[in-house]
Amino acid sequence: MSNFFQTKLEYLRGVGLQRAQLLGKELGLFTYGDLIQRYPFRYLDRTQFYNVVDLHDDLPYVQVKGILRGREVIGEGPKKRMVAKVGDASGELELVWFKGVNYLEKVIKNHQEYIVFGKPTMFNGRPQMAHPELEEVSEQKPGQSFLQPVYNTSEKLKNYHRVDSKTIMRMVGDLLKIALPQVTETLSPALIQNYALLDKATALQQIHFPQTPELLEKARFRLKFEELFYIQLKLLRQKDQRKVTLAGQIFSEVPTLVHFYKNIMPFDLTGAQKRVIHEIYKDFCNGQQMNRLLQGDVGSGKTIVAFIAMLMAADNGAQSCLMAPTEILADQHYQGLKVYADQLGINLGKLTGSTRTAQRRVLHEQLREGTMQMLVGTHALLEDVVQFRNLGLTIMDEQHRFGVAQRSKLWQKNPYVIPHVLVMTATPIPRTLAMTLYGDLDVSVIDELPAGRKPIVTVHRYDANRLKVFQFIRDQVALGRQVYIVYPLIEESETLDYKDLTDGYESVSRAFPDLQISIVHGRMKAEEKDFEMARFVKQETQIMVATTVIEVGVNVPNASVMVIESAERFGLSQLHQLRGRVGRGADQSYCILMTSYKLSKDSRTRLETMVRTNNGFEIADIDLKLRGPGDLMGTQQSGVLDLLIADLAKDGRIMSESRAAAQTILADDPELTRPEHGNIRRHIESLPPTAVNWSRIS
Ligand code: ADP
Ligand code: MG
Repeated sequence: MSNFFQTKLEYLRGVGLQRAQLLGKELGLFTYGDLIQRYPFRYLDRTQFYNVVDLHDDLPYVQVKGILRGREVIGEGPKKRMVAKVGDASGELELVWFKGVNYLEKVIKNHQEYIVFGKPTMFNGRPQMAHPELEEVSEQKPGQSFLQPVYNTSEKLKNYHRVDSKTIMRMVGDLLKIALPQVTETLSPALIQNYALLDKATALQQIHFPQTPELLEKARFRLKFEELFYIQLKLLRQKDQRKVTLAGQIFSEVPTLVHFYKNIMPFDLTGAQKRVIHEIYKDFCNGQQMNRLLQGDVGSGKTIVAFIAMLMAADNGAQSCLMAPTEILADQHYQGLKVYADQLGINLGKLTGSTRTAQRRVLHEQLREGTMQMLVGTHALLEDVVQFRNLGLTIMDEQHRFGVAQRSKLWQKNPYVIPHVLVMTATPIPRTLAMTLYGDLDVSVIDELPAGRKPIVTVHRYDANRLKVFQFIRDQVALGRQVYIVYPLIEESETLDYKDLTDGYESVSRAFPDLQISIVHGRMKAEEKDFEMARFVKQETQIMVATTVIEVGVNVPNASVMVIESAERFGLSQLHQLRGRVGRGADQSYCILMTSYKLSKDSRTRLETMVRTNNGFEIADIDLKLRGPGDLMGTQQSGVLDLLIADLAKDGRIMSESRAAAQTILADDPELTRPEHGNIRRHIESLPPTAVNWSRIS
């Protein structure tokens, strides 16, 4: 859009400096562009009126049309209030205001016909409305749009400065009059035609003052499409440009890997694993730096894929590192991979926060000299003192736990050629969100579990059934299996949770005096945790009582029962992650969700979802719908939520369409130099360099 839209709001008719400052402070509205893009959050159907007699408590905000039949101010000081009655042919509605009484006294007219808008409540069988909006019927002009926009405003603006939704509506109306001729089209003629989009000016007009519900829908679609299109265009261009500018090391030799395949690997790869390895290998051979996201549900076998990629690097003289979010997980990767590395004569090291100084020194030196080919660790390997001779591949497990800053820190570990990057995640991210968060990455998906896995049987039990659950645990242990019992410990410092855990441990110990029981939680020292984990892995203990520290990645195939206490307190993704700790061997596995009887509607949905499905992607979509994208991991830092109109939870289809459209355009005209892409190029050039939705996603 042109400079016109940068004009400060104070210059808009009837706004002035003081109001403009308030609008900026309270609503973040500074310029014409801001105001025109602050779309209504809902609309009033001005054709729908309720009869007073039909009002009841369960109705939302409604409209009533009637004559004001008396008004009076009651009480003094803070208790002062205005009470009025409005009547239609069917009955009488009482209106009451506790604020702005002096002002109302001046403006409310007896015997005037009003449209009253508010939320009805019943009091002694009579309908009331508190703080309704009033509009004189004569104010309604012919030709006015029949869906009236409702804008968000703040309490302060409404009550002290009389800037309510209607004030904003009038400002927008005034602005549109002068602004619409200035609006330039931002999408190409072909896009407008192919997707049957409204032109930009019409869309803006109709989103604020829709003439019909159909036009409103078209305006919404057009504006959402545009918003998502530009996000995808940006991401795809970043991706393309990186490919052009960033060279990658070529790993085409694989002798050790072939040896591993033939002689050492303990199982056959699944078809999905093979496909993903092939995708990675292709990236390694094409001379460009790889940036790939590997998505695979819990238990789909991402670790072995990571190791095979690391072997490709080693076979070509490059070092690699695998970074895990927790010490337990790093440890587990190390233990698991060390077995293979030893047989292959590969020097594999481990670096975590608890690695001793002397040990560290050796590691640092071997990494610098290049005699250590592979490193597994936690955040500790991001430290500046950790220098590689030739780091060629960095892998991040459970990527959602790491920020963008950490990704780039790993890049810098090789000053000559940026290492290839593979990020792995088992937190199933809904497709829409993945397309936005990781839209600049190539994506591989392992969509198949190793053969022979039985779906985990999930049940919901109330605390009152604990004895039966304990009996079940006893039976499973008698069959030689192991059991997790997990307690919520959302914040490791929450003393109350900590008490739940220790109480739980004691009651489990009392119930199973003959069994060996491990306990792991965040307050323990790393060595203690390791020790307890190791006992469980070696099957010296049969029950593991733990907090969510074991949530991510831990792999004990013999464990077949996951009991989750206070399951209503966990989020869906977290429940799914926890459940993924079992079902890793050939035995039938079980997940038991324990709760009290008191459950909110959302908790019920979460529990039902868990019982119904094992599909991580389905679970992720439901999670997104329940919580909105704001709470999903990794979204806060990304800025993807500053959307003007599109909704990541609902607009998946538009997102896919807009991404496909952006892909087609870029494939044809990567620099957008063709005349038919002039609108798009000009729009990108007109965006301020720090525009939201743009630079913060990387
Ligand atoms: P995740 O994808 O959750 O990280 P892991 O890599 O921990 O899964 O693998 C889960 C378990 O499945 C491990 O015990 C691993 O050895 C095993 N596994 C991986 N791939 C296969 C396969 N193709 N066939 C059989 N077992 C496999
Ligand atoms: Mg894993």
